[in-house]
Amino acid sequence: MQVIQSSKLANVCYDIRGPVLDEAMRLEEQGHRILKLNTGNPAAFGFEAPPEILQDILRNLSSAHGYGDSKGLLSARRAVVMHYEERGLHGLSVEDVFLGNGVSELIQLAMTALLDDGDEVLVPAPDYPLWTASVSLAGGTAVHYRCDEQSEWYPDLGDIEAKVTDRTRAIVVINPNNPTGAVYPREVLEGIVEIARRHKLVVYADEIYDKILYDGAEHVPLATLAPDLFCVTFNGMSKSYRVAGFRSGWMVLSGDRHRAASYIEGLTVLASMRLCANMPAQHAVAAALGGRQSIKDLVLPGGRLLESRDTAFRLLNDIPGITCVKPKGALYAFPRLDPQVYKIKDDAQMVLDLLRSQRILIVQGTGFNWPDPDHFRLVTLPRPEDIADAVTRIGDFLSGYSQP
Ligand code: PLP
Repeated sequence: MQVIQSSKLANVCYDIRGPVLDEAMRLEEQGHRILKLNTGNPAAFGFEAPPEILQDILRNLSSAHGYGDSKGLLSARRAVVMHYEERGLHGLSVEDVFLGNGVSELIQLAMTALLDDGDEVLVPAPDYPLWTASVSLAGGTAVHYRCDEQSEWYPDLGDIEAKVTDRTRAIVVINPNNPTGAVYPREVLEGIVEIARRHKLVVYADEIYDKILYDGAEHVPLATLAPDLFCVTFNGMSKSYRVAGFRSGWMVLSGDRHRAASYIEGLTVLASMRLCANMPAQHAVAAALGGRQSIKDLVLPGGRLLESRDTAFRLLNDIPGITCVKPKGALYAFPRLDPQVYKIKDDAQMVLDLLRSQRILIVQGTGFNWPDPDHFRLVTLPRPEDIADAVTRIGDFLSGYSQP
């Protein structure tokens, strides 16, 4: 008898590591060098782990080999509480903090504990596709609200409101945004909170890029605007601290925890079923949050991330038929291919064709639950000269490209 995958996976996909990556690996096995601009993995582009993080992990390694508390190391959770207290989120205790094996694990846990079959969650389009996949895997339906490219990719509040139904349980906000790089102003966040308040929605704020900000952009933690709502804020070590491989993240429950008592019990059960998160990495959370924020050296003028973002933005917009909104945060650009210029019906095929012709791996816009085949995402992590070369080659490829 054949072994068939669960029907739970029917609507689950994650194209950032999808079939095109298999082709990239096949080409690598044949000896080709592939420039992988598909994942926001700083280490792959030569970024080193901050020494203070390594020091704390190494110092504690010999005593970090046992299981620990399911919610995480107390000292790390204390540091998370203090961090948010400083950022204006008051009244937290260590009981409100869960540490996980990256934000990815915590997103899945948060959706599993919330959703019954057919429940709806408002998720942005474009989104970081793990959100849509996790909603689907938990039996829910991701209903995508549009972010508006004409307005700096801010969420369209009218569209959010129009998509609320009596099955809507929650709204997801990714800020700074992956894939668009948008950083939402306070008024937009207040508008979202108002809708959540009116419809009694749980608010999920994915803020993993909160320190990767350009041009003086300010990040407002969403939960600080909604002390009366039940909010779950996600963050971690993968991006600002450049140690994605250590798989370390946290979620913080705030606001009306009383209303969410049963849900929190569910989270606790799920956290204990996976015993605990990777212990060595938890020893670095306090050092990361409390220490010098070396990410600033990378995003301020002269910093490598800023220069790469500038280079990508400038050269992408130089390609005829491409426009790209300037990313104000995070590690990505999400340019638009003018459909009058590029007749692309299948953007996954375009990405595959680019890979085969230029040995550059990017991700198609529809992989981020964007409805039309007219965008792609590239990471802006390479050195400016490498990103310049990559964007030039993408432009060369597109200039002769058509789909039958
Ligand atoms: N959330 C967003 C918006 C991301 O872009 C990513 C990774 O790219 C994650 C969550 C997952 O991060 P982690 O490495 O903590 O699992």
